[in-house]
Amino acid sequence: MTDQGRRPEVRDAARIVVKIGSSSLTTAAGGLDPHRVQRLADVLAASRSAGVELVLVSSGAIAAGLVPLRLPRRPRDLATQQAAASVGQGMLMARYTQAFGQHAITVGQVLLTAEDVVRRAHYRNAQRTLYRLLALGVLPVVNENDTVATEEIRFGDNDRLAALVAHLVRADLLLLLSDVDGLYDAKPGRPAARRVEEVADVDQLRSIQLGKAGTAGLGTGGMATKVEAAGIATGAGIPVVLAAADQAAAALAGEPVGTLFRPTGARPTSRLFWLAHASTPRGRLQLDPGAVQAVVDRRSSLLPAGITAVEGSFTAGDPVDLVAGNGEIVARGLVNFDAAELPELLGCHTTDLASRLGPAYAREVVHRDDLVLLRPAGRGGRST
Ligand code: GLU
Repeated sequence: MTDQGRRPEVRDAARIVVKIGSSSLTTAAGGLDPHRVQRLADVLAASRSAGVELVLVSSGAIAAGLVPLRLPRRPRDLATQQAAASVGQGMLMARYTQAFGQHAITVGQVLLTAEDVVRRAHYRNAQRTLYRLLALGVLPVVNENDTVATEEIRFGDNDRLAALVAHLVRADLLLLLSDVDGLYDAKPGRPAARRVEEVADVDQLRSIQLGKAGTAGLGTGGMATKVEAAGIATGAGIPVVLAAADQAAAALAGEPVGTLFRPTGARPTSRLFWLAHASTPRGRLQLDPGAVQAVVDRRSSLLPAGITAVEGSFTAGDPVDLVAGNGEIVARGLVNFDAAELPELLGCHTTDLASRLGPAYAREVVHRDDLVLLRPAGRGGRST
């Protein structure tokens, strides 16, 4: 293929996050397939030799744990999933270590939970580790830390994790590999179904997300999470290619396989991006109209005076949603008080609180630096 036919987004990418799903790494019986792992390693090694920095986000821990635990299928309950992941993650890494070892590439395991990376110190920590691994020539292999991720703090699916990691390492491209060869405009397999070669902008993406483009297959095969992940990455300025695992080499060569999602937004501030997309809110603060205006239009901190009600049980430092009178979530932020402390502060001015309860109570409930708008001033949709 001539250089001209190649996708510039791929050709010019110096750092790529590649995500592969369990079904592309396992045998029909459900165990890890060493040949498929090796094939992936061979393809990625070729990209590395061409000078591309890579981060691999790999599922497969739970799948790998099924055989040694004699589990016939993926368990439904969280505790058994966690046990399977505990057994399988080591096996998965052993396979990658061996497969990339054939190419003299060292791999490093990075396990993340959503909670870990939303908090400022942890976020920087994860970023620093990944940067250092890349600087040392290591190929980081990322997965969710399934063994400790409870329902409240988990990413849930690795597509979203991969989009967030792409942002974290400032990748130039996110490649999502799965068992389908792209996004279809109708359920794949139907005679009329055609592969969408390119998703150009937010409107097209939105119509796909809403199912208006006739994407009947969205609910199946995990396509919805892939489109959502593509939305997160492209919204952060990172192009995405969605392709089948056996097209990995062609996709990395920039050939027009799969579906290309063009970037639609600018890169937002890192931590706030995570706050918006990776955190699970632990509670809700109801705002009066003045507070909504202050937070949304003037980008001010949230003070106790503007809060009318508190829901949920959270502690200081947790993410909470800020909700307008009509129920719309307008922002998410890290709260500076425990839920139990707030009721007696509501509606009070900070100067009164300081004189009544002491200077520590004069602080903002959510500081503007710890706040991300989900309804930007004067616009619909998310700001990040
Ligand atoms: N973290 C899970 C695993 O490694 C997979 C999650 C996903 O595939 O989205 O088994």
